[in-house]
Amino acid sequence: METSKLNEPIDLIYILSNGRSGSTILDMLLGTSNETWTLGEYLLSKYEWTNGRLPCGCGHEFKDCPFWQNLSKDILNNHQKELTDSILFRDLHGSGKVLRPQFLPSLLSGKPSPSLLEEAKKYGAANYTILKKIKKEALKRKSFDFFIDASKDPYRLLLLQLSGFFNIKVIHLTKPIQGFIYSMSKPKLKTTAILRMSFRWLIENRIMIAIGDKFFDANSFYHVHYKDIIEDPQSTFNAIQSTLGITLTGLDFTNFGEKDSHGIAGNIARFKNAKLKRDIEWQSKLSIPLQKLSSIIAYPLKTKLKYP
Ligand SMILES: [Zn+2]
Repeated sequence: METSKLNEPIDLIYILSNGRSGSTILDMLLGTSNETWTLGEYLLSKYEWTNGRLPCGCGHEFKDCPFWQNLSKDILNNHQKELTDSILFRDLHGSGKVLRPQFLPSLLSGKPSPSLLEEAKKYGAANYTILKKIKKEALKRKSFDFFIDASKDPYRLLLLQLSGFFNIKVIHLTKPIQGFIYSMSKPKLKTTAILRMSFRWLIENRIMIAIGDKFFDANSFYHVHYKDIIEDPQSTFNAIQSTLGITLTGLDFTNFGEKDSHGIAGNIARFKNAKLKRDIEWQSKLSIPLQKLSSIIAYPLKTKLKYP
């Protein structure tokens, strides 16, 4: 019955990662499955719908996209407040903040403060309203179980989880610190930028791990190296599915770039004939002292994230 489904939690696969760590490729691969519908970087929805910086995952501009054309107008006109509330943390193009002090006590203790719980309820409700509307439209085109949200942001994930409106399976995706700082600081590779990015990698991943450890069960949170997805996608996706207890059929690791999706933003890889490609340029372009220095900065997370 329609009414009994009104408040059913929405199933979500959340991609949690630093910037430029391969989240778009992972999003595209997951999106080839029969059981998923990709939202892309949901946090950028309002920005992209209004500014049209990047086309939709289908290649059309949002105003011409057969899926979003009317739906985005409807949401912008009739759910302005919920939309704005649902994209808190990143309503502009660019990176989200690394540290949000109001979250720290709850993150350290593993017990959400009453004010954080209240914020989560509000945030979850706003997201639920919008995502439910999107789901209703999406189901007319494809029968699926999971939305994929490639928003990456840890604070969004925590609030969605605490809100109780969603069943969330998390894939925490990382690249080695050297790969991250290289892609964030090139082409100038200034030492100050590299240092800043090294600490960004460390702090962001520390927060992501804390969220996984303290607010998720072991079967709802899985860490994966970008390299493993590239080198052996089949085994890596088998491990993702068995750990998270989900079934993804019809995955396509070869022609994933051609699959039609209506994902928001992401990077330009989405629109080319995307192929699985290792990210190793940093190995020759980043000086050995800088590689070593960043390795020392990343040391506290070495074991936890399984880096050599
Ligand atoms: Zn589209």
